[in-house]
Formats: sequence, structure tokens, C-alpha cells
Amino acid sequence: MNAPAVMQKWLEGVVVDQKRWTERLFSLRVNAEIAGFEAGQFAKLALAINSEMVARPYSFVNAPRERPHEFYYVTLPDGPLTQRLCKLEAGDTIYLAPRPSGFLVLSEVPASAKLWLIATGTGIGPFLSILKTDAPWQRFKYVVLVHAVRHANELTYRDTIEGLLARHAGQMRAVSFVSRGETAGSLHGRVPAAIEDGSLEAAARLTLSAEDSHVMLCGNPEMVGDTTEMLRRRGMRKHRRREPGHITLENYW
Ligand code: NAP
Repeated sequence: MNAPAVMQKWLEGVVVDQKRWTERLFSLRVNAEIAGFEAGQFAKLALAINSEMVARPYSFVNAPRERPHEFYYVTLPDGPLTQRLCKLEAGDTIYLAPRPSGFLVLSEVPASAKLWLIATGTGIGPFLSILKTDAPWQRFKYVVLVHAVRHANELTYRDTIEGLLARHAGQMRAVSFVSRGETAGSLHGRVPAAIEDGSLEAAARLTLSAEDSHVMLCGNPEMVGDTTEMLRRRGMRKHRRREPGHITLENYW
């Protein structure tokens, strides 16, 4: 018997495990034979809900050579998909679109001395995938990872970040922000204000300028917009293939 038409464009994957970081933050690991991807891209994950496929894009956290595939997500109170994703267990079936896509990738980034990867919340996922590849370390003199969250317990993937810092000592800097509450070792507040007053550069021990930096932004669209505006005041503009610039971005919603 033929599978229903709606099913044919989806590949079947198998859940390996699920990590619960907080009430709302989860990492789902999946084995699936999807096409190759570049670090920074996303897959579409889907579940059949009331006999319809409901799909959303989720960035890979794993590097292209790593298996299983890993996706970091936040549950949304009324989200039909995330409320089901978070209940999946090892061995459960999940559907994936066969071809990953997305432009938050280093092959779209022009040469510069410093690469700044600035994320809020789950937007750190694609940057971890990028940092687990060789390309950033071969192409940039310095790489700065910035993770901005509301609360300290949302500063996830600390072991991964510590491992990267140890492997790339001298070349990598990591800066975290906690906006709601004071946390030792993290800046307080938001990224755009910290660019404006110089505290981000001070924490990274590096300067941020149009002459020597490229910035990738991922996460909350308001952070992406406000940070782009702050960088514009420093003479930086969005990068386009036909008009090279200094900012590459992905809005998460
Ligand atoms: P969030 O509200 O995105 O906040 C994360 C960090 O970004 C916080 O430190 C926050 O600071 C900061 N931020 C917010 N607006 C900013 C701006 N204009 N400029 C600079 N920084 C800014 O929190 P989250 O927990 O990661 O995500 C929460 C909500 O995002 C979810 O509940 C959901 O509504 C939405 N979301 C939707 C999707 C989707 O696919 N639909 C995916 C992910 C998240 P403050 O604490 O000062 O606000």
C-alpha cells in the first residue's frame, strides 16, 4: 500500500534521547538519514497532529560530521509542536524534511579578523554547530561567542563552551549575559546597550569595528533588530552577496 501523499515528503527519524535543561528548554537528539548540511543550517522537524503534519525549522547543534543530530528548543505555552516534542522519548518516531537549509553559515561570511557570534536563548544552537567545525578556527584570528538569556539557569551548554575554550585558548572568547538578575561571571542587561557603552568589548578583551569584525546574530528578532541598529551606528551593515557587509542574521521567530 502507498503511504499517504502527505507522508511522502518526510523522512522517518528515531529519537535517541531528550535532555531537559529547565522547565522549558530541551535538547532532542535524533537519528535520521537526511541530506548533508552546513553548520548553521536547520532541519524541519514534524509530527502528525490530528492527521496533519505540523512542521517547524530547528537548527542543528551537532556539527555536520557528528551523529546523532541534535536540536535545542524552547517549549511555547500554546505551541502545538513543541508541547509534543518535549514528550518524545527514546525510540519514538519523528519526521524530518529530507533537505536542510538556511543562510546562517560561514560560507556566506566574508573574510575578517574577528567573528562575533551573538545569540539569545536557543539561538546559540547553530553557533555551537559552527564552532565544532574547523572553519572558524582556520579563517578568523579571534572568535567571540555571546550568549544572552533572561535567567542564569538558561546559560546552557556550558560544558561544550568550556571544551571549545580549552581547545582554542587564546583564539576564542565567551561572554554571557543574564538580563533578569545578577550572576557572577555574566554581564547584566542586554547586548545592544553593552555594545553602546563598550562593556561587551571590555568583557571580550577585543574591539568591535567595521574594519575588522563580522557579526552573526541569531535569536530574538528584537535583539537582532536592535543590535543591527547599534552596529549600524558603528558603520556596519547587513552582508549581501552583491553588497558585502558586516552582519549576517537569523530571526528565530
Ligand atoms: P527572550 O525574551 O528571547 O529573551 C532572551 C534574551 O534576549 C533576554 O536576555 C532578553 O532580555 C533579551 N532581549 C529581549 N529583547 C531584546 C532586545 N530588543 N534587544 C536585546 N536583547 C533583548 O527569552 P527566551 O526565553 O529565549 O524566549 C522566550 C520566548 O521567545 C518564548 O516564550 C517565545 O515566545 C519566543 N520564542 C519563540 C520561538 C518560535 O519559534 N516561535 C522560538 C524561540 C522563542 P530581557 O530579559 O531584558 O527581555
